[in-house]
Amino acid sequence: MNADIVCVGFGPATAGFLTTLSKQLVNADGAPAVESAVIPGAPPQVLCYERADDIGFGVSGVVTRARALRASFPQIKKAGIPMATPVGDEKVLYLLDPHGASRRSTTLRLADWFIHTFKFVLPFEHYALKLPWTPPFLHKRGGLVLSMGQFMQWAGAQVQSTGTVQIWPGTPVSQALIQENKVVGVRLLDQGVGKNGQPADGFTPGMDIHAALTVVGDGPVGPIGRQLDEHFGLPEGHHLRDWAVGMKVVVDLPEDTPLKPGTVLHTLGYPEPEIFGFFYVHPDRIASLGIFVPSWFDSPMRTAYRYLQHWMLHPQLWRHLKDAKLRSWGAKTLGESGRRGEPHLVGDGYARIGEGSSSTNVLTGSGVDEAWATGTQLAEAVLELLKAKKPFTKQNLEETYVKRRLASWVEQEAIVAEKSRDGFQKGVVRGMIGMALAGLTNGKLTLAGDPVPPWKRIPSIEEYYAGRVSREEIARLRDQCKAKSIPLHAALMDRVGWPAIPYDGRLLVSHQDALLMGGKVQAPKGYADHVEFLHPELCEKCGTKICIEACSGQAIVLGNDGVPNFDREKCVHCGACVWNCAQPLPENPERTNIAFRAGTGGLHSAEN
Ligand SMILES: Cc1cc2nc3c(=O)[nH]c(=O)nc-3n(C[C@H](O)[C@H](O)[C@H](O)COP(=O)(O)OP(=O)(O)OC[C@H]3O[C@@H](n4cnc5c(N)ncnc54)[C@H](O)[C@@H]3O)c2cc1C
Ligand code: SF4
Ligand code: SF4
Repeated sequence: MNADIVCVGFGPATAGFLTTLSKQLVNADGAPAVESAVIPGAPPQVLCYERADDIGFGVSGVVTRARALRASFPQIKKAGIPMATPVGDEKVLYLLDPHGASRRSTTLRLADWFIHTFKFVLPFEHYALKLPWTPPFLHKRGGLVLSMGQFMQWAGAQVQSTGTVQIWPGTPVSQALIQENKVVGVRLLDQGVGKNGQPADGFTPGMDIHAALTVVGDGPVGPIGRQLDEHFGLPEGHHLRDWAVGMKVVVDLPEDTPLKPGTVLHTLGYPEPEIFGFFYVHPDRIASLGIFVPSWFDSPMRTAYRYLQHWMLHPQLWRHLKDAKLRSWGAKTLGESGRRGEPHLVGDGYARIGEGSSSTNVLTGSGVDEAWATGTQLAEAVLELLKAKKPFTKQNLEETYVKRRLASWVEQEAIVAEKSRDGFQKGVVRGMIGMALAGLTNGKLTLAGDPVPPWKRIPSIEEYYAGRVSREEIARLRDQCKAKSIPLHAALMDRVGWPAIPYDGRLLVSHQDALLMGGKVQAPKGYADHVEFLHPELCEKCGTKICIEACSGQAIVLGNDGVPNFDREKCVHCGACVWNCAQPLPENPERTNIAFRAGTGGLHSAEN
């Protein structure tokens, strides 16, 4: 099939692209403003394929300054988008550990001791210190608290109502079609295949869509972006080594909640010092809250789910959540490499936008606005080229899209943020100081620290628990968990003092219940497994098996031969296994032993 423009993924970046483009393809009298190359006399044929089963079914951002969104929709605050409200009170809270179970450095212990000792004269309550002021770079004043799922459904409807663009959810793109270093379109995923991709009943090979321009907006771990990185390489000195997995719940707050719509809370310090939390309040007593577990958290027990529960149970948050009820749950990777992870933004026949082009700003904690902005910049460039009847060559895209992007606030702020988190490579306190320095000096001062690939920094389980749990006991717990086919983290966390989770069937539910109640995870039949363990012999030898501990959906379990098994029906497509894997790929140490391909299904909630 032939089209003029084909887009991969419908996240905020592509939504920004299509919103700007779709409004300008047809004149007010209905005549094409620019002409299609594949259907002469018609406006350009624009197709967008989205992997998830509906628009807005992924996990995405919440609080945003909404500069780019407002530029596209000046009336956004009055548009009646469900769950949207202006940002109100913003606070940063340092959470102390009420159980003594987290791993804290000597400096942090000293700080905790100081806070406890002087708590009567400090803004301290419920085991938390309220920072006297929110640093300006973190502020979202004037912005919006949104449900991106709801916003994306609304934006998708706006785009489709123009009649100039088609969006196809439930349709993963399996690969970019590359001919002699030019991207000439995409291939959709094969249907009617077995787990290993072999044709089975009802086999339908994925259709090829040929297009003059392929827009890649498939997010931080998108398979098409990764394919292009593999094929074209990254620019000299660039690398993708910083990530986080964000796990989130949307809840109904209790009827008597004192929290006002627009409330924004950022937390740090607990459940582990490396884990940041967020708590945003929507209208109608709904709140979105969760944690980020970063790749520089040097623990082989990186379980976002169990940590999320301990975080919610912190006295400072639990007082608001005690009678709250789970509405929705999910997880997703956040690409945190910033400018240093930027791929080749354009090439012959293609352009990269959004988080997959490393647009997310790790200093301001903002990705939605940046992704949207890069999409609108590409749309303006595309319209310019279409009107001038110029082809989508690398040079033409550089002179239009890349030029706009480099001249915009996205780039200026990315330069400030570029080294702002390097300090975290050598510890949390150093990281916080580095961030503050970068934020307060506009990036002029930072603390050094070379980002290293996650696999290089993960200690073995025995090293991590040295002095707390003996090797013999770890071996015994490992055998017990293996016999029950469950991950090891729960046993080890119990062992070092984390209290049991008091399941209440409302908000505190088992991981499996979260998949069913909150994520409503589904996987249609007839598609291949999208997670693959590339060198099984590496898995056999791998001691930490962090892919199992870190899996957001318990979709990876231990197999009999030491090689993990993947269960497509539990996968929420968060992409965390890819960068958490403890073994580098022998042929490319910047990649790990897990392949993350295009796949169907996953979360079924448009509230995240
Ligand atoms: C828990 C969490 C909280 C966050 N909070 C905030 C916040 O408060 N404020 C903020 O500004 N940012 C926040 N972010 C970051 C923000 O969500 C991202 O920066 C933003 O979503 C990036 O948009 P994108 O369009 O580039 O990519 P994505 O949102 O990742 O969208 C990519 C789309 O491509 C689709 N796709 C992937 N592969 C394929 C394929 N092969 N075929 C077809 N479709 C495909 C995906 O399903 C997805 O819909 C948060 C992120 C997380 C994980
Ligand atoms: S996928 Fe990676 S982390 Fe998991 S067992 Fe294999 S090598 Fe280890
Ligand atoms: S298997 Fe799926 S749910 Fe588990 S970490 Fe990988 S992408 Fe996330």
